Amino acid sequence: MGPGRLPVAPRPYRDELLSSWMARVACRYGLTGQELAGHFAHDGSCYSSPLSIDDTAPAADQIRVWARACGVDPDRLHRLSLSWRYPRRARGWYLSRGPKWMPSTVTGSPPVCLACFAADQSAGRDGYLRAGWMLAERCICPTHGEVLHDHCMSCHRRLSVAFRLLDGRARPACSFCGSILADRGGESGRPPNQNLMHSALAVQQRIMARVNGEDVERAKVEKALATLWTPLDHPAAARPVLALWFNEAGWRCPYDVRHAVGAAAPLGLLPVRWRFLTLLALDDIFGADPRVDGEMPPLATQLVRRAAPRRERLSKSRRWPHIQLQKRSSAEYESLARQILADPRWIAAEELPRRKRERVRARLIDAALAENAAAAPGVGLPPQPRCDAQAIQIS
Ligand SMILES: [Zn+2]
Ligand SMILES: [Zn+2]
Repeated sequence: MGPGRLPVAPRPYRDELLSSWMARVACRYGLTGQELAGHFAHDGSCYSSPLSIDDTAPAADQIRVWARACGVDPDRLHRLSLSWRYPRRARGWYLSRGPKWMPSTVTGSPPVCLACFAADQSAGRDGYLRAGWMLAERCICPTHGEVLHDHCMSCHRRLSVAFRLLDGRARPACSFCGSILADRGGESGRPPNQNLMHSALAVQQRIMARVNGEDVERAKVEKALATLWTPLDHPAAARPVLALWFNEAGWRCPYDVRHAVGAAAPLGLLPVRWRFLTLLALDDIFGADPRVDGEMPPLATQLVRRAAPRRERLSKSRRWPHIQLQKRSSAEYESLARQILADPRWIAAEELPRRKRERVRARLIDAALAENAAAAPGVGLPPQPRCDAQAIQIS
């Protein structure tokens, strides 16, 4: 293949992530987007490894090369970038591709909605990644009302999407085990309670409006979220203030959310389930208009007091090497969170006064922890995502 025009190159979809379109083009040639970019750069040699594309603010020369090779207007490609779609949004409000110390193989893709992929398939078009899946607060698909998936349903590794050409259409697949990412019914386990889904979706949409809007509003939400993930009491603490909401003494922060403790913009660093939980906590603690100032609800005031002062905090790079081994894995916490969120008593507690609601929550968490402790370790839980094992080696 020369540096000229590609014989086949599908057009991008209006709401598609730029790198998704590139991957769909490349899969027509049995390549990844980066491998195909290598062909463009070095006239047929695929041994180079060009920079991967930055979906937020792609380099103009990368856009130009792709536009020429695919016969697409470069402006059209530029309009796929996140900075063009969401001009007011700071980088911290997009998903981070994973902590820097993680090997690139586990940095993965944005979480995906399997119902969106099913819709693509029934419409007879390519499956593709939506730009909105990169938003830090996005944990529920606004179209289908389903929780996004950030782990492969077959191999349970952190999701990394590759495209495979089947019957002339690109189908999203897991890049580790190769299984096609599709809703095969009932595999995602017990879905969270619908009421909780509705309230989390409402919080998600409110945050999105604020983050895309005025600076003052965005700053308020940012501060409230950062407060939830501030180290508890001591600057070097590994537990965030959010632990108080769980109200459980033995609560330990699992590996794959540790790097969010003390982060200025924690949401984009969290797995989907933890984002979901953080949104519910934000709503429960701060109410519909989150702010960290004199007019906070009592629980918020109490939590803000326990946040370690920001200036005194140690830098994360100094805290990281000293991570202790934890008693519970992240998968256990996710399962625990699901269990609590799906409990009808949690929903019933919404009607109760705050004090009683907190007691119900504490009891549910205690009960869930006790149940989990009674089971043999790992029983009934999905296999560990690979990033956990690697995180342990690194720490
Ligand atoms: Zn969807
Ligand atoms: Zn897989």
